[in-house]
Formats: sequence, structure tokens, C-alpha cells
Amino acid sequence: MPEHAHPRIWIIGAGPVGLCAALALQDKALSVGIVDAGHPGAGWASGGMLAPLYELLADPDCPPAFARFGFESLTLWADVARACDLPLASPALFLARTQAELDRLSHVAARAQTYGHRIVPTQCPSGLTALAAFVTESETALDPRQALAKLKSRFQAQGGTILTAQVDQLGPGKFHSPTLGWIGAEHVILANGYAAHGLSAQIPAVAHMRPVKGQMMRLAHPGLSAPIVRAGRLYLLSRGASLVVGATSDPNAQPDTGVLAEPLADLRRELAQLAPSLATELVVESWAGLRPDTPDHLPLLGPSGIDGIWLATGTYRNGWLLAPAMAALLANWIAEGNHRQAQTDTLRDTLADLFAPGRFSR
Ligand SMILES: Cc1cc2nc3c(=O)[nH]c(=O)nc-3n(C[C@H](O)[C@H](O)[C@H](O)COP(=O)(O)OP(=O)(O)OC[C@H]3O[C@@H](n4cnc5c(N)ncnc54)[C@H](O)[C@@H]3O)c2cc1C
Repeated sequence: MPEHAHPRIWIIGAGPVGLCAALALQDKALSVGIVDAGHPGAGWASGGMLAPLYELLADPDCPPAFARFGFESLTLWADVARACDLPLASPALFLARTQAELDRLSHVAARAQTYGHRIVPTQCPSGLTALAAFVTESETALDPRQALAKLKSRFQAQGGTILTAQVDQLGPGKFHSPTLGWIGAEHVILANGYAAHGLSAQIPAVAHMRPVKGQMMRLAHPGLSAPIVRAGRLYLLSRGASLVVGATSDPNAQPDTGVLAEPLADLRRELAQLAPSLATELVVESWAGLRPDTPDHLPLLGPSGIDGIWLATGTYRNGWLLAPAMAALLANWIAEGNHRQAQTDTLRDTLADLFAPGRFSR
């Protein structure tokens, strides 16, 4: 480690959660370092949609405070993207292929209004087969690989250190890697996605995490007229000279990132029904990632139960969306030295309870 690099705070993991937390802590003039294993995480493998309407409002079990948190994060993204010179694509087109999907989208549109967002009917683009189409400016998408590079460069340009190493042990206010040995800090933030589960011997709260494998593919295609098209689990993202298609979701798959042919073939069949002309397009790339899920699908954010170790993981299928709001909450807790506000900010306390890492052990 360079002589000058003795940050007060170390973050384990340079995915969306770790990088956004690092930038939020730098904004508070705190010295931060990141240690990252250097292999692609779920953030790299993801679609990069910032989708509180489709993902949160559509879920009948989503607590209202969590939906608000998602919208707040989307607002924060505008600032993060501006600071990092990161383009965000919009609008998003939602397609209903069946009456059940139409009912669901009508429900989402009605709920969106109560949060001040609009989803309005529109024409279904030619070449796509659907009963109805809606459009919204309230959802965007980023290119995850570009975003990871831009977030990293901003962090480093502001004096942040990133070390490449695999953390294999944690202790009160310290972490260990075979190449770095033990490193102590005032705060250590575990933000390494589903891989945090591997440290459950020392941090029991992460033992409750579950991997949900997701696969995607890229087609050689110039892209569609709308940059984001969603229909049920299918989404089509026009990026550069290609069309990114996602995503499968398998909670029972082995927790590895090997690409499995059958789930991708299913996705391809579904795509062919929605857009027959895409059925024969060449697949130029396919990949897989592990969404870090929890029993209630809410993040693990807060003190881990071990002194000096914080958790920032468990973001399931919305880690990109939620990263800036999680980062802001965590940075405030750390900067103010006060995790609970004791009746001064009820929303913050509600979120602290919803995301409390120890909630599954009570
Ligand atoms: C197919 C798929 C599609 C998705 N689509 C979306 C979407 O459209 N929108 C959205 O918001 N979310 C989406 N998600 C979910 C999102 O990708 C995750 O919630 C998010 O990436 C979690 O971010 P993270 O920073 O916690 O972890 P990760 O992105 O997994 O990053 C973890 C980082 O930690 C590092 N690391 C791991 N172990 C160690 C260790 N022991 N020591 C040091 N470093 C370590 C890794 O190298 C990696 O860089 C999708 C996920 C998948 C799989």
C-alpha cells in the first residue's frame, strides 16, 4: 500500500454500492479506500436499469418507505451521473402482452401518480407484438460497464485509493487479505454483493443472503426506436450497435456465474414472440451474475453487529438503482457518528429498521 494511503474508511467491493458509498463519503471530506477482488460482480452483469416504477411499485409487498427510497435514489442518480459525465438513457416503454400484464401496468400507472410520476399510453412500435404500450420519462438506464469505469475514475481523481485484493477475514475494525495482511480502519464497509455471504462465519447477518442467478445476452442489432423496452421479465436495451436482452432469474441455480444454455434459450423464445424479427439475430455475448437477495428482498444496510464493520449489500435486483440513496444514508450515519436519530427524522429511522442487518436473527 502506498505510504500516503491510510484512509479512515475502507470499503470492500468496487461494485455500484461500494463506489457510490465511496463518492458520498468523499463528498463529506472523509478519506476512503476501496479494496476490490477485481472480478466482475453483479453490477457488471446487470441491465443497469434505474427502475423504481417497474421494479418497486409493481411489487405488492414493497413497503411505501422503500418505494420512496427508490425514487429518491433515482433523483440522486441525476447528480451522480452529471458529476461522472455518465449518460442516462430514457424514456422507458412498458409493453403489456396479456390482460394480466395490462392489469399490472394499469395498477403501476395508478400508484405512480400518487408518487408524482406519469406513465401514459402510447403506440406500440412496429415490429413488437403487444396488447398495449405505455411510456414514462421517470425511468432511465445506464450502461453498467461504462458506469463502473466512470465511478472509479471519479473516485480516483478525487484522491481515492483502490487496491486489488481478495478480502478473506474480518475482525472488529479490520479486514484481512492474503496479499495485504490485516488492515485496520475506523470504519470498514462490506459492499461486495453476494460474495459477502462467504464471510458469514465472522458476520452472522450475511448468512441469510441468497443468490438469485441472472443471465443476459447481447445481440448484433442496431437497436430499437425506444432505448428501454420492458415486457414482463423481458427487457431490451439499445446500446451502441447492439441490443442487450435480459434477464433470467433463478433462485435455485448453483451460486456461480457459468452461463447456462437452457434459461437463455427460454429468453430467446420469449423474445421471438415479442419481436419476431429479432429471432434470428446473432448472439454476440452472454453472461451471468448473482443478485444478492435477502428473505424480504430488502437491503442489509447498517452496523453489522461487529464493531467498526458496516454492511451495505443485499440489494437483490435493484443495486444500481438503490446505490446512491444507500450511499447517502450510510455517509450521513458515519459522518454524524450517529446511526439512529432518535425521533428527529422518522423516515431515516424507518429505513434503519427496514434495512437493519440483524433483522432476521431477532
Ligand atoms: C442479470 C442481472 C441483471 C440485473 N439488472 C439490474 C438492473 O437493471 N438494475 C439494478 O438496479 N440492478 C440490477 N441487478 C442487480 C444489481 O446488479 C445488484 O444488486 C448490484 O450489482 C449489487 O451491487 P454491489 O456493489 O453490492 O455488488 P457487486 O455488483 O456484486 O460488486 C461486488 C464487488 O465486490 C468485489 N468482491 C467480491 N468479493 C470480494 C472480496 N472477498 N474481497 C474484495 N472484493 C470483493 C467484486 O470483485 C465486485 O467488484 C441485476 C443483477 C443481475 C445479476
